[in-house]
Amino acid sequence: EREQTASAPVTPGALADGTPIPLLANLGSGDGAAHAVELGAEGVGLFRTEFLFLDAGDTAPSVDEQTEHYVRVLSAFAGKKVTVRVLDAGADKPLPFLNDADEQNPALGLRGLRALRAREGILRDQLAALAAADAQTEADLWVMAPMVSTVEETEYFVDLAHEFGLKTAGIMVEVPSIALLAKRAFAASDFASIGTNDLTQYTLAADRLLGTVASFQDPWHPAVLQLIGAVGQAGAEAGKPVGICGEAAADPLLAVVLVGLGATTLSMSPSALADVRLSLARFDGDAAQHLAQIACDAADAASARAAVTDAASSLQ
Ligand code: PEP
Ligand code: MG
Repeated sequence: EREQTASAPVTPGALADGTPIPLLANLGSGDGAAHAVELGAEGVGLFRTEFLFLDAGDTAPSVDEQTEHYVRVLSAFAGKKVTVRVLDAGADKPLPFLNDADEQNPALGLRGLRALRAREGILRDQLAALAAADAQTEADLWVMAPMVSTVEETEYFVDLAHEFGLKTAGIMVEVPSIALLAKRAFAASDFASIGTNDLTQYTLAADRLLGTVASFQDPWHPAVLQLIGAVGQAGAEAGKPVGICGEAAADPLLAVVLVGLGATTLSMSPSALADVRLSLARFDGDAAQHLAQIACDAADAASARAAVTDAASSLQ
């Protein structure tokens, strides 16, 4: 382990033609930050703040407690981008003081930004803590909201974050409605980050927690990829970054397809960074777009994966 960390710094993510594709880390606390940097994370594409709230018990953590927590992760990435997601409570991440346990379909209920709007004080405290942490550190802080489904919600969140002095505010694209309205969303939002776990769940109408429908939870599905492509195109037209922060970004071959669909950064569990870095370096932009087209033209997830695997090996 020690020898590995003493070796030359890891090269940044890039395609074979040199196009940079920054590779970022998904983190849930400041603890993993140093290790992520050792593994070559060029920043943080998704800092999940749920754990801080889950650990706090029956109430939300105070602004000061939150500030300290955010300072810890921001300090580890001085000069680099850190994308913090505001609290994503509900559905697979229930919080007793925020969510209504009586919902029949919690994934379709008051979760993510919807839950925060119903208790706006919690959102305001979190944005205040993030602004305070930003003032104390040198990282490039981006903030984003989960489970955004309308343009109005996009405007609401981005405007509120800007009011708190947070310069770069955006949305997660996890619901098909906002993927389809990406052009309008980008008019309000500084960036988008696609959460492929939820986007797959909502596109295929298959609960991501339910074993009986687990086979539907496959981000190679062409319907999911076409939605990602629509967001990528809208982002390119608007000149705004489009990140991917769901599990899909950690699949080395799918990562190439995602770049072909217009992703400008990929964020993943730090352990996946090395394999994705190697895979991107094998293909140029034209090859990535060609593979993306093959995947989008497939009938289902299995044939998309098989056709891209075939085409990729013949490109080598
Ligand atoms: C996602 O939905 O893809 C995502 C990154 O968020 P989470 O898995 O935390 O819901
Ligand atoms: Mg999600």
